[in-house]
Amino acid sequence: MHAQGYSVSRRASGASPRTPASGMRFIAILCSVVLTLTIPFIAAAQKTPATAAKKAPAAAGPTPRLVVLLVIDQFRSDYLDIYRSEFGEGGLVRLMREGAVFRECYYPYAITETGPGHATLATGTTPDRHGITANEWYSSLLGKTIYALLDESSMVIGGTPGQPPVSPRNMIGTTLSDEMRLATGGKSRVFGVALKDRAAILSTGHGGNAAYWFDAGGSGFVTSLYYRSLLPEWVLAFNKSHALQFPADPAGRKAGVAHFRESGAANRLVAEFALAMMDNEKIGRGEATDFLFIGFSANDYAGHAYGPYSEEVRKITRETDAAIADLLRQLDTKIGRGKYWFALSADHGVAPTLAEARDANLARLDAKNLDLKAVRTAIEDAMNQKWGSAHWLLPVENFYFDRKVLADKNVRVEDAVRTAGDAARRVPGVWGIVSRYGTHMPDSIIQAYSRSGSPGRRPDLEIVPLPFALPDGDKGGTTHGTPFTYDSQVPLILVGGPFVPGDYFQRCSPLDFAVTLAAMLHVHSPSLATGRVLVEALSTHNASAGRAAAPGAGH
Ligand SMILES: [Zn+2]
Repeated sequence: MHAQGYSVSRRASGASPRTPASGMRFIAILCSVVLTLTIPFIAAAQKTPATAAKKAPAAAGPTPRLVVLLVIDQFRSDYLDIYRSEFGEGGLVRLMREGAVFRECYYPYAITETGPGHATLATGTTPDRHGITANEWYSSLLGKTIYALLDESSMVIGGTPGQPPVSPRNMIGTTLSDEMRLATGGKSRVFGVALKDRAAILSTGHGGNAAYWFDAGGSGFVTSLYYRSLLPEWVLAFNKSHALQFPADPAGRKAGVAHFRESGAANRLVAEFALAMMDNEKIGRGEATDFLFIGFSANDYAGHAYGPYSEEVRKITRETDAAIADLLRQLDTKIGRGKYWFALSADHGVAPTLAEARDANLARLDAKNLDLKAVRTAIEDAMNQKWGSAHWLLPVENFYFDRKVLADKNVRVEDAVRTAGDAARRVPGVWGIVSRYGTHMPDSIIQAYSRSGSPGRRPDLEIVPLPFALPDGDKGGTTHGTPFTYDSQVPLILVGGPFVPGDYFQRCSPLDFAVTLAAMLHVHSPSLATGRVLVEALSTHNASAGRAAAPGAGH
């Protein structure tokens, strides 16, 4: 096995970034990539008979020893530019110098939250297919709002008692890492760690060897019964040697954990755990390509509290850059420069706070508080007026009709949606509503919401804010969860192997990550994938290797 890496694909200094391929070349690459996708282990077929290649898939092609996916929670693509002066040479700047940087990468759906983002990167498709439509949804079966990762058959192993049981079971279809395991008979090993459980669990798929996350009570890293019934010795030892000191009283402890979670130190701890995991599990030293997911979630907590243009986000972005530099240095030592592929992305962006938007005079536009309680009242009032007094909406977050009340009052859900929608749209900051029972929004907006919908996992009514209108924004802080670019545009950087360094401005999406990696690793695309191969960033060497080998490969 030989691996291509940084040194092979690095652009000569002073060369300009790659421009988009010409039409003919584009088609040629596309054809060869399609052939690469459909004919397994093509690179091995170049050198050895096809039958031999089939028997030894792990040895086929210029595959890396390890694929690392680093996802920063709530990291807008513009952070690479506006905070560039904060970066050293070895972190984000190195990734941008040595990697294919996709500048126009957007989530194509509306509910831009952490769960959907990670599931989308992993499965190469949208929430309507993979089923992780939001971080939580109302279950009519259970009569309550449930967490997207809730799995009553599981339990958290380690940490503070009483944590909700979690697993990836609610995610539908395979992930990139699942396909890597399928293609190698389980020889590819898959590990993940993050501050948040949903990041670690969804990103390591159904076949993950282990996923770890930081205990909500601050006691250290924990896992799920889904993976193993005990924490390994090395995890117990790590938790002991990295124990954090918090105040003894429950309130003080809670505040202390919250403060830690929004700090750069939290990301550093995750990185240290990842490196300890690499040593103890011998990640990147197996028979086949391993997969390692690392999730930096501290940025999301800091961003919510202070906003994308705040000093606090500037600070944590600088600290994140330093953590990445250290991580890359360690990967160079442990795995070897050029022997691993590295991908960076984010699960979503974030809106400016109302104060930040006002500084730019966007209050003249719609940077206003969107009072969700006023929306609820407007809907209930309109329905009371039309059909008599009742509790029309379920007393849960988001907007669900009480179906029993609708039935008792003999009101069709379509009529309820129309009345509720007319009322909601009169509330300041509301653009309109989307519902599968009727809507008043532009088609492209409806489409973004349908990509976020899956039967039984979305509300009856989606309240669409105007851009920059912030739900309950007058309480301070900010949030995400719309289809607008401040929430949906994220970085995507692919480093190593076939990825040609440079800036790429073709519009793409995080769906393309899993599909592109699957093609380049010569494994099948995840089962529900709808992304595309990012052909514009592939080296001609790789593309022509596929083309040359195709005729001899037979079927
Ligand atoms: Zn968030």
